[in-house]
Amino acid sequence: MAVPISQMYTVATYVLKKRLAGNKRYPLVLMLEPLFRCNLACAGCGKVQYPPHVLKRMLTPEECFAAVEECGAPMVSIPGGEPLLHPQIVEIVNGLIARKKYIYLCTNALELKRRLPEFKPSKYLTFSVHLDGQRDHHDFSVCREGGYDLAVEGIKEAVRRGFRVTTNATFFDGTDPNSVRAFFDEVMDMGVEGVVLSPGYSYEKAPDQNRFLGRARVRRLFRAILSNRKRSWKFNMSPLFLEFLMGRRNYDCTPWGSPAYNIFGWQRPCYLLQDGYAETFKDLMETTEWEQYGVGSGNPKCANCMVSCGYEPSAVMDGFGSLRGFWAMVRGSFSLYRDRHALDLLNEPAPQGPGRRSDLVNIERSEKEFEETRR
Ligand code: SF4
Ligand code: SF4
Repeated sequence: MAVPISQMYTVATYVLKKRLAGNKRYPLVLMLEPLFRCNLACAGCGKVQYPPHVLKRMLTPEECFAAVEECGAPMVSIPGGEPLLHPQIVEIVNGLIARKKYIYLCTNALELKRRLPEFKPSKYLTFSVHLDGQRDHHDFSVCREGGYDLAVEGIKEAVRRGFRVTTNATFFDGTDPNSVRAFFDEVMDMGVEGVVLSPGYSYEKAPDQNRFLGRARVRRLFRAILSNRKRSWKFNMSPLFLEFLMGRRNYDCTPWGSPAYNIFGWQRPCYLLQDGYAETFKDLMETTEWEQYGVGSGNPKCANCMVSCGYEPSAVMDGFGSLRGFWAMVRGSFSLYRDRHALDLLNEPAPQGPGRRSDLVNIERSEKEFEETRR
């Protein structure tokens, strides 16, 4: 596992304290979105389609600090939008470091190389660079030729300056598992701490609705990608969440584990869905009808979801919440997941080219068809 010991210790003691206090629902990572504006317009993005007057709005540093303190989670992920477009992002990051929060600053890295001199390396700060695969695949995914090369320049400079760096990939239908495995080799050679992965979520607002995977196809894709892995590959995620993606274990969604705060307030119930907003974190936790969400709820919006913000907290709480879970996590950290069937999956004909439309599954948007039965 690529996560440093000090961060693991902080999270483990936090989970144990919550369990000993009898808390059933508690946050692990705050998804702090200081703005929705971005310098890219990716086809699978659910954030940058807001009207211009919303895209102009931003959280102030004071609003960010108040949300972080109110929430109390040990980790803060700063997605967006593109956080490096926020004029006070350095002040926000420094304020969170002073509060000893482990920060994942998610960036497409177009601006990273230029902005790096404004930041200081810290064990609390990780640049989580959006990189969706090898050059052609990434450029297709972010709808920008040259996006990969700029991101890689930013990654290499950040590594050279001593920052913690991870890559952050979202995979959609049409992904070639062999290309993803070659991509792991490439990013590990860049010196990153580890890779973060998630299947895409079928945002209603995303411009390309034909790219999203059903659960059975997610498991098949990730079984092919993550089985028979190389020792050199490091993942900055819970090994139990990776087993969940591979279809080796099942979890219920715990959306309160990654609460989302943005210019509208505390978003119900998770980073992906927008079923209203609460004014305070307490209100979010106490008045959200949590039983209405997750695959088991029968909510069609959740039927095909396996994304990290809903299910990785479940895996982390399992891993640090019992001896059985801890042992499974340790075993998963060292296992290479030998699997003959997964090797056969790698020998199947690859999708032709990076995400060609002809290779994508056409997912209709009626509620009836949002069932987990989709393959
Ligand atoms: S880089 Fe991120 S925030 Fe920007 S358009 Fe792409 S997915 Fe959306
Ligand atoms: S299943 Fe997915 S969409 Fe539904 S609440 Fe959980 S994270 Fe959100």
